[in-house]
Amino acid sequence: AKGAGRNRFSYFTPALQVAALNRMRLTNDLRGAVKGQQLELYFQPIVHLKTGRIHKAEALLRWRHPVRGLVSPLEFIPLAEASGLIIEIGGWVFRESAHWLQRWRSAVHPEFQLSVNQSPLEFQREGGYDSWLALLGELGLPGQSVVIEITEGLLLDASSSVTDQLLQLRDGGIQVALDDFGTGYSSLSYLKKFDIDYLKIDRSFTRNLAPDSSDMALSDAIIVMAHKLGLRVIAEGVETPEQRALLAAAGCDYGQGYLFARPLPAAEFDALLRAQSVA
Ligand code: C2E
Ligand code: CA
Ligand code: CA
Ligand code: CA
Repeated sequence: AKGAGRNRFSYFTPALQVAALNRMRLTNDLRGAVKGQQLELYFQPIVHLKTGRIHKAEALLRWRHPVRGLVSPLEFIPLAEASGLIIEIGGWVFRESAHWLQRWRSAVHPEFQLSVNQSPLEFQREGGYDSWLALLGELGLPGQSVVIEITEGLLLDASSSVTDQLLQLRDGGIQVALDDFGTGYSSLSYLKKFDIDYLKIDRSFTRNLAPDSSDMALSDAIIVMAHKLGLRVIAEGVETPEQRALLAAAGCDYGQGYLFARPLPAAEFDALLRAQSVA
């Protein structure tokens, strides 16, 4: 038994070392990714459930690694956070988003809104959101054209600097969406404390929606509560017509998911948005 234990140990350690080395290499590559123009922004439509029209989209980051091909944000965002690169990357995401947003609002859909994900670490950015609001001003874009997607964790241990920055965003007119809602915490008191515009029902609820299921009951309750608090609701991960119908019947405002479209390269999203505007 002793021998087997030692054996297992000797297999285990190199595997961990390989994983750590892999992370180090990938982090190193990530350093060059912004300057090397390896980052791309994809856009996934957010659809008004009653009319089926696209009024918003979420910007989703992609990394085209020269050797590995597409690396998932689930893999590289944590590396960007651990290394501090998330600040520079988040800045790129916002500038790129603002560029496309201006184009779509001026040429296709005057009320179009774009959602951008924010890692909690981005709330430690020096100078806060000054430069973001300044860029919107330069481009002639109102704050309301942008939605910042944050997660519950940020609000739960919100320091005074996080609170200040949320206020700064709100003063600039920027809207706030609570992402992955229902996966995190049981305390809902922050819904009262912070000014939030949208709740995004997590995909784990949408996946198991069926009449009379517990996930249906939870989704119903979330939608009723959100509306009472003056928030609008976006369901994530809508993949089937049945899920869409159940959500619409429950009064959910917007849906996002493969049923409508996968995240698309900018040119493809542009074509989709233009096609609907003439339809
Ligand atoms: P998220 O914010 O919850 O984004 C939604 C994820 O669900 C996206 O994964 C999207 O492609 C996927 N998705 C959309 N519809 C469906 C569907 O119908 N079925 C299924 N199974 N999945 C669907 P993605 O693009 O891989 O992004 C993963 C996560 O990476 C995001 O989760 C977000 O937390 C993070 N992320 C992506 N872009 C950024 C960014 O620019 N900044 C930051 N800080 N995080 C980002
Ligand atoms: Ca999101
Ligand atoms: Ca989400
Ligand atoms: Ca998520």
